[in-house]
Amino acid sequence: MRTPERPPPTGLETRLAAMIKACGPISVDAFMAHALYDPQAGYYATRLPLGPRGDFITSPEISQIFGELIGLWVAQSWLDLGSPAPFQLIELGPGRGTLMADMLRVCQRVPGFMAALQLHLVETNPGLREAQQTALGSHPARWHQSLDDVPPGAGFILANEFLDCLPIRQYICAEQGWHEKLVGVDAEGRLTFGLGPLLPKPPPCAQPDDGIGAVREEAPGLAGLVDLLSRRLHTGCGRALLIDYGDRRGQPGDSFQALYRHQKVHPLDHVGEADLTAHVDFKALISLAKASGLATSGPVTQREFLQSLGIEARRDALIRANPHCESELTHSVERLIGEAHMGGLFHVVALESPLNTAHGPPIGL
Ligand code: SAH
Repeated sequence: MRTPERPPPTGLETRLAAMIKACGPISVDAFMAHALYDPQAGYYATRLPLGPRGDFITSPEISQIFGELIGLWVAQSWLDLGSPAPFQLIELGPGRGTLMADMLRVCQRVPGFMAALQLHLVETNPGLREAQQTALGSHPARWHQSLDDVPPGAGFILANEFLDCLPIRQYICAEQGWHEKLVGVDAEGRLTFGLGPLLPKPPPCAQPDDGIGAVREEAPGLAGLVDLLSRRLHTGCGRALLIDYGDRRGQPGDSFQALYRHQKVHPLDHVGEADLTAHVDFKALISLAKASGLATSGPVTQREFLQSLGIEARRDALIRANPHCESELTHSVERLIGEAHMGGLFHVVALESPLNTAHGPPIGL
């Protein structure tokens, strides 16, 4: 809900409002793309979003155990696929580089892994690229604007809380039929939500049993991203591991969310200063991946995934070695695997190259 006192408009809101006044309302995905990626004032172009002084905290920032277990997953996958050399390890949206640094600490214990590794980071935010460089220390890495720029070849692709940045369109079922939700301008010149004209037919994401008031979302960029992943995974053996928050059953609902300094705010406030996300539609992701010729595993919840990789045993070992950290370790692992926390909300999916010779699903899925 909107707070009674709206914060003053940011420069980006004023710019978007002028554009909308001149050209008409825009779809939610267009708004999200401007708010996140405007080169001068977009959230991901200009801000350092993560950590206590940012706007949100991700799993690798909660505990080193998260990155260590993902490192185990990658190392085991590399062995399963016959230790390809060289191979690429690609991370999409690596944040502060914490996940990669924690993973590499584990992976370097596997003989041959580091010698064969070529590290590629896909990151658009210049400040975060610097943080990633610092976190990686002496590990050589190459940075790219898009997955498309990474040279082809065998390898592993990781993405944690990356897909939730994909801009979404929203549709609402009203009495007469479906409308798209749009962003317009109110009498005071501030951004506001409204409905577009009645659509001639339901949007493709609508389901036959959706009732009045149902909200459906689709991320138009998801198909393009899955296509990119699929094209890569057709150039050499490998796997992609995608971890994000979202729904695996295809339930309707409005999941568009804004976080500003760790507080939920109205998505049309703090434009360019708040992180905007939406739930990932895992059902759509899986069907797009299958249609593009990839085998898939999951989705499983983050809880199931981390438990089967041994998170509790790792926590207990760390507690034995550092008894004074018991309550902090217990608390952070609970945040990662608790049903009501990230454990139940986040889901994990793996996509498999058709060139893989390994039999059976990857560990944890
Ligand atoms: N994976 C990290 C950070 C998640 S936040 C973690 O778990 O801590 C999202 C990350 O994706 C940030 O690094 C952000 O700058 C990056 N990002 C967002 N949209 C992007 C895009 N279109 N292309 C490349 N990187 C993007």
